[in-house]
Amino acid sequence: MLLKNKNILITGATDGIGAQISKLYSSHGANIILLGRNEEKLNKIYDDIIENTDTKPLILECDLNQISDNGAKEIADAISDEYGVLHGLIHNAAELGKLTSLENYSLDDWDKLMRVNLTAPFLLTKYLLPSLKEADNGRVILTSSGVAHKGRAFWGAYSISKAALKTMQEIFSEEFEGSSSIKFFSFDPGATRTKMRSAAYPAEDPNNLKSAEDLNDYYLWFFSKKSNQKEINFISFGDSL
Ligand code: NDP
Repeated sequence: MLLKNKNILITGATDGIGAQISKLYSSHGANIILLGRNEEKLNKIYDDIIENTDTKPLILECDLNQISDNGAKEIADAISDEYGVLHGLIHNAAELGKLTSLENYSLDDWDKLMRVNLTAPFLLTKYLLPSLKEADNGRVILTSSGVAHKGRAFWGAYSISKAALKTMQEIFSEEFEGSSSIKFFSFDPGATRTKMRSAAYPAEDPNNLKSAEDLNDYYLWFFSKKSNQKEINFISFGDSL
């Protein structure tokens, strides 16, 4: 019960890694705020948590494609009204978008992807900071990728959004260093068997990939005492903790 009475928001909680972390954290006693765009999938995860744990989950139905300044404020207000304090914010939701050359990337596709992968983490973090400051050792995890470090041909706006997200984490980290116990981490989960991975690598045999469950130790580590001492804020799967 490492996470008993901790309140943690997970974006993209309905599938893949986000769904696994929701299960993991709630099994350790956390109240999970499940943010997703699909009502049916949200209800299924919510019911599963209610059935198997003694925690207080909350559903926030939101298509991050549509997120606005007011929408982010409303989400922050809803969380503050329900829980008062937020211990963790896991920016996990992302879209892969089109794997095509930048020359052929349309503005519409660019805007949609950037809103989900970059604008949403910025706005949600900004408006949730007051609730995160109420926690001892609040955590913000921005989900990164191998294509954040070096642009890769045909990975378009996805690669650019992940590089920018890494910069966002670095800026937040510096701005809060020394003045707050909140820590901001980038985490690259590495190749993991999910629907996004299958969309990116359709010819790959998913059975050769690790499952989202294999990431459990990393996601628990972010809320452990050991993470307070960590100097490096960029963690990749395979790094020793
Ligand atoms: P999935 O596609 O399996 O899951 C993505 C989640 O994000 C789903 O819950 C999806 O909702 C949600 N989502 C997507 N768009 C929106 C939106 N507009 N509004 C709200 N929710 C949305 O991907 P993964 O689990 O693989 O990816 C999780 C994170 O890990 C991502 O940030 C990804 O970039 C990163 N990552 C993944 C790797 C991998 O190999 N799997 C490798 C490196 C990084 P819905 O269920 O409705 O589709």
